[in-house]
Amino acid sequence: MDETTARQLAALCHDLHARGWVANHDGNVSARLPGGGFLASPTAVSKRDVRAEGLVTVDGEGKVLSGSRRVFSEISLHLAAYRARPDVGWVVHAHPPHATAWAAAGESFWDAPFLAEAVVSLGARLPFLPYARPGAGTGPVEAAFGLADAVLLGNHGVITLGVDAETAFLRMELVEHLAKIALLARPLGGTRPLPAEDVEALVAARKKAGIGPGAAAVGISGVGSAPANTDIEGVVREALRRLG
Ligand SMILES: [Zn+2]
Repeated sequence: MDETTARQLAALCHDLHARGWVANHDGNVSARLPGGGFLASPTAVSKRDVRAEGLVTVDGEGKVLSGSRRVFSEISLHLAAYRARPDVGWVVHAHPPHATAWAAAGESFWDAPFLAEAVVSLGARLPFLPYARPGAGTGPVEAAFGLADAVLLGNHGVITLGVDAETAFLRMELVEHLAKIALLARPLGGTRPLPAEDVEALVAARKKAGIGPGAAAVGISGVGSAPANTDIEGVVREALRRLG
């Protein structure tokens, strides 16, 4: 087992719990291992209690390769994300309350983006997938992750992706933050969308900076999605300055 990845994964689980984004045994985290296979949090354990030595490794079909515990049943959603996105190294699933409120209400809050930085970090889409029973096909999830780095699951929660642990975690934080802002803006008349032209420029700048699906082909790094330390503000400034 890759010890650094294992420690990072356990720490991320603790962060999900500390933020109040999971309750009971909710939520799960996985990471792509450099030598093949995936490291995953065990099922039926509070995210507060996940330990590096209690993780499981699975193959691309979700079959447990090592570890004494069982893997969580939503592993098929994680594996669908890895299949859709070879650039992705980490998948995080949680039930953060504000974003999950929108997911339970059957609505997306990001159809008309309202913050420029978030368009660069997250893209202009947050696909909403209607409620699906456990064990339902993973086709819609796989398709959604071909287009976006985060997905709202109807009556369920959120999944985010990242090239590294930090990026996947920050995206979960951002989705929850935006959901909260959209909810707070509701009684004030709702969020006003950014001009379409600006959104378009921000999406193009995001791609150019190597962030998100399909960015690898044109990304500055040329090897996949840009990591967490990308200068988002700089990308925004540059994109919007060009509009004049
Ligand atoms: Zn869940």
